[in-house]
Amino acid sequence: MNLRQIIKYAAGSCSFLLVPFSLLFFAACSAPKPNKTSPIIRVAMGDPQKLIEGATLTPEIPADFFDDISELQLVNIVSFDEKGEYQLIKRNLEQENSASKGPGDAVDEAMAENLLKFSVEREADDSLIMNSDALGAGLVFSKNSAAQFTLTSTISENRQDPAKLLHFSATADKRFISLLIYENHDPKIGASVTAIYFSNKIKKTPAATTDSQYYFLNGPGVKYRWAQNKTLDLDICGSAPDPFTNDVLLAQNTWNNALKTKLKINVNKTPKETRPFSDLNQRCLSVIDGYLSEPDPRAASFGMTLNVSDDEKHEFIDGDIFIMASEFKKANVDMMNPAYDQTRKITVLHEMGHLLGLDHQFDGPVSIMGYDFSLTPMLYDYDQAAISALYAD
Ligand SMILES: [Zn+2]
Repeated sequence: MNLRQIIKYAAGSCSFLLVPFSLLFFAACSAPKPNKTSPIIRVAMGDPQKLIEGATLTPEIPADFFDDISELQLVNIVSFDEKGEYQLIKRNLEQENSASKGPGDAVDEAMAENLLKFSVEREADDSLIMNSDALGAGLVFSKNSAAQFTLTSTISENRQDPAKLLHFSATADKRFISLLIYENHDPKIGASVTAIYFSNKIKKTPAATTDSQYYFLNGPGVKYRWAQNKTLDLDICGSAPDPFTNDVLLAQNTWNNALKTKLKINVNKTPKETRPFSDLNQRCLSVIDGYLSEPDPRAASFGMTLNVSDDEKHEFIDGDIFIMASEFKKANVDMMNPAYDQTRKITVLHEMGHLLGLDHQFDGPVSIMGYDFSLTPMLYDYDQAAISALYAD
């Protein structure tokens, strides 16, 4: 994929679908623009395969899957690489772009629509190509002996590079698909694992809004949430130290009390199977070790939540929480030490707030969605009001 171009667009748009949780400093970009759901990249450093350790993989796609699909829309890209190269590019672009905000946004929107369109073309030799002319980027699949599609390469600026599909998933209604791709051909980047989310025949419509004092993930007052009156299953995937499991259960109960009957989070401590974070049919909370999400040695980012949005129904279709054990170590926080119970509990409550659809609150009211680790781990008036406003009606 031509990640650099997408990053360039995403860096200018400033809408965090993926929410970093920094302890010592935080992103300059705290108030996303309303209803802007452009793809955003989150990157980190370390062996990116740590992120999928122990997961059950589906590295091929049923051959008939694309029979009725001729075009896909790029929804989101999340890339993790060994050297942290993309993070540095993104930061530089943010600095470049910060001086030129304002008019031109409408043009950006139109350009983005075009950039995000991928054609799905069958070739005479039975291979399949997903391609964006505007991006100059594509994915090439071939059929294996079991008549399934496997990824052979990515195309970027007329160059073809070897790539491997780690995992494919799709929602039951085929409206969303995700591909998890492994690449390792550029020594500057090292190994990378990239999740690419596409939508299929989605008609984008404006979301309902409520009071803009409430900061939601897709903009102030812009209502994107999980389908109501349902259970939101969240699996603890991989091995989580005991204190974390207890914190997750506490956070589940705390948020469930605030949600009343609108939504019920159901934490499963021992899922039968774990699939990679890109999987659209499982929501995981994973404690990841040996991998940094904040490349600056003076900062630490304890948690990270990735949500994927449906721009037609204005619902989340997937969400995963990462707790970054190596970031705790970097900040000299021993996550097993009872002295840091509060830090851990706040981290989990905060990330679960993101999963439910809340963005950061830095503007005044005391909130678990700020970065104050001196707070008691509980929901404050703002948090209760914001979640009630989001899940009202
Ligand atoms: Zn956060």
